[in-house]
Amino acid sequence: MVLLGPPGAGKGTQAKKLTRRFGVPHVSSGDILRSAVAAGTPLGQEAKSYMDRGELVPDRALLELIEERLGKADCLHGFVLDGFPRTRAQAETLFGMLEGLGTELDLAAALLVSRREIIDRISGRRVCGSCGASFHVTFAPPAREGSCDLCGGALVQRDDDREATVAARLDVYDRETEPLLRYLDECGLLARIDGTGSAEAVFERIVGSVAESR
Ligand code: AMP
Repeated sequence: MVLLGPPGAGKGTQAKKLTRRFGVPHVSSGDILRSAVAAGTPLGQEAKSYMDRGELVPDRALLELIEERLGKADCLHGFVLDGFPRTRAQAETLFGMLEGLGTELDLAAALLVSRREIIDRISGRRVCGSCGASFHVTFAPPAREGSCDLCGGALVQRDDDREATVAARLDVYDRETEPLLRYLDECGLLARIDGTGSAEAVFERIVGSVAESR
């Protein structure tokens, strides 16, 4: 399945819950790109300038990484794809990739959250620089300010979580992703999910859509 929704809609949180429930890996295009940036690969260096501006990384720099990941053995019995596709063209490419792998998409679940709520959520988000765990200064504060509950690592704000970049990322989402949602709807794959309320409530709504899609 694919999880869609603007940045800050809770895709990462829900993807982790889904992987636990269904025993399939969480494949995040943002995480894949951030690893390439951290590793300093040529592709990562190219991607970084786009990511810092909140813009979409060009397909040529991304498609190969996604295809390689979905071809790994742990994706054989399914996966939760988060952050990809973001455009109609990427969705068409994904359908081709999956056909090549002898599988197809069951569901595209789109989390719906208002713009105001997203800006509040993202500007308070902090991630652990060591293990990647996610916190929120108001909604999910760590036990000790600035330090990760899981590994004690330092909590940092992602460069692209600053308010100006968030606004740019939301503009990109509206422009590129709304046509994608219409396309996935035409393909009969789209479930629009209310993304507000507790993470557990949202999760149960998604699980309901998964059950209906099977
Ligand atoms: P995310 O963690 O999903 O919010 O992604 C962080 C950044 O990575 C985005 O703002 C984009 O610059 C880049 N990115 C992630 N997924 C894609 C994608 N499917 N297409 C293009 N750029 C992407």
